[in-house]
Amino acid sequence: MALPRRVIVTGAAQGIGRAVALHLASPGVALAVWDVKRDGVEETAKLCHERGATARAWTVDVGDADAIEAAVAAFERAWGKPDGLVNNAGIFPRARALDMKLAEWEEVLRVNLTGTFVTARTVAARMKDLGRGAIVNTASGRALAGAANGAHYAASKGGIIALTKSLALDWAAYGIRVNCVIPGLTDTAQPRVEMGDNELYAAGASIPMGRIGRPEDIAAVVAFLLSDDAGYMTGQSVAANGGAIMVP
Ligand code: NAD
Repeated sequence: MALPRRVIVTGAAQGIGRAVALHLASPGVALAVWDVKRDGVEETAKLCHERGATARAWTVDVGDADAIEAAVAAFERAWGKPDGLVNNAGIFPRARALDMKLAEWEEVLRVNLTGTFVTARTVAARMKDLGRGAIVNTASGRALAGAANGAHYAASKGGIIALTKSLALDWAAYGIRVNCVIPGLTDTAQPRVEMGDNELYAAGASIPMGRIGRPEDIAAVVAFLLSDDAGYMTGQSVAANGGAIMVP
């Protein structure tokens, strides 16, 4: 399975983003790991380095277009044009729709949806010069099922599925593939905002495969979509959820 060799992973300080970076980390691969959490992302870069990759941590807020441009330009100066991007950074604050402040709505859209768009566009400008590239965005099962107390989150993730298809159409002629992973409930910090350990693991009982996802389950799908094995796939959204989405 041939993978891109110069890759950016956003939201890589922990959880799924860190698992993706570690899955990709091997000798000959240059990895830029981005996050707003400096300590976590530096630890991820160290772990990638231990696996033989060239890895560097950047403190980047994916809601900041200038910071994204600066980080991609620095990547290019150091290692050349990126040929892989994983848009994984995301936030899921909870708020009831009637009580939700407009600023809360806008912040989730800014990070999850605008961040994905601006990062993809900034990186794709370089991939276009290369004549190839693979981008994987991160949606959520909530895009399909809705999210109680999370209208902003579900809307942002639904937007990512539509955005993925649109960018795939725009960029296919440049050899750039754009796909999307749809994680189900996965064992990271994100669901722990509203669930304790017991509740989280109990939720696995209602999933057909009998457990919630592990970050590594999602990382494997991301790696496949980045790889040449998915070379005829673009605009697709692939769910990894133990069968949960089939449960009414
Ligand atoms: P997580 O909270 O552990 O990780 C998210 C990472 O994104 C954190 O390191 C965080 O600091 C970073 N981040 C947040 N805002 C950022 C910003 N503005 N700029 C850069 N980085 C930022 O959660 P996770 O579960 O690993 O989430 C990874 C992705 O998977 C997210 O997009 C999330 O919405 C999605 N997802 C998660 C689940 C789940 O159950 N865990 C389910 C569906 C989708």
